Amino acid sequence: MRLARMRYDDGVWLARIEGDGAVAPLWQESDHPAADGLREALAAGVDLAASPHGTTPYDPQALLAPVVNPSKVLAIGLNYADHARETGAEPPAAPLVFAKSPGAIVGPGDTIRWRTEDSGQVDYEAELTVVIGRRVGPDDFPGDPLEHVLGYTVGNDVSARDAQFADRQWVRSKSFDTFCPLGPWLVTADEIGDPQALAIGCRVNGNALQDSNTSEMIFGVAELVTYVARYLTLEPGDLILTGTPAGVGFTRQPPVFLGDGDTVTCWIDGIGELTNPVTTR
Ligand code: MG
Repeated sequence: MRLARMRYDDGVWLARIEGDGAVAPLWQESDHPAADGLREALAAGVDLAASPHGTTPYDPQALLAPVVNPSKVLAIGLNYADHARETGAEPPAAPLVFAKSPGAIVGPGDTIRWRTEDSGQVDYEAELTVVIGRRVGPDDFPGDPLEHVLGYTVGNDVSARDAQFADRQWVRSKSFDTFCPLGPWLVTADEIGDPQALAIGCRVNGNALQDSNTSEMIFGVAELVTYVARYLTLEPGDLILTGTPAGVGFTRQPPVFLGDGDTVTCWIDGIGELTNPVTTR
């Protein structure tokens, strides 16, 4: 099933998108600034398959980021062999885990923005994004790591390359406000089936700049969840952006960077398209 967060006149709802263009609202978020409809709903045991509030017509303008305020947003560097090659880096021997700020999350249609004096090299990275559904940590394995995955969404690991290479670690460059677009919804793991067989790509202003498949990942989703949870506990709603394939802007000749007025679309077959405009200030 497809689960979305949607803004209606009476507030923000976790909702199920139906195949016939209808939406079934499931759970209304509180007005608390730390509200996270998904985590709250999972904790409350909300039946995601029920329709307790009937249905309403689907309005794409109502879509919000499918997850907000997770306890952590982790991401994996150099996790596609073709991307490692294009950067000139050796493929890592173990997953290269870094963090993005949860505050960088924005939703479908939200604007990616930054000051031009803060970066002249802002890049796109389409990424299969894991949404954790059940807590898992160092004391929980062995087990099936995929049982802890609620579903998947499309992420854009927006990256300021000049800041990234200046700092020698990646938190600032990948955590500017608005640098973690997510959406358009999450698709539950049962509907995805094999997460290592999904076409994935990115278009900027309609030009296809990334076009690959999650089968190219060096460490698959099961390995990533196992690896991360060996060291730290993953909570419901936590995110793992699983790395990006070849075709990012800084490796192209000539380089391609995002700029004012651009439109960037990351897509994954079986999930959907995540489109965001770009504005500099
Ligand atoms: Mg990335």
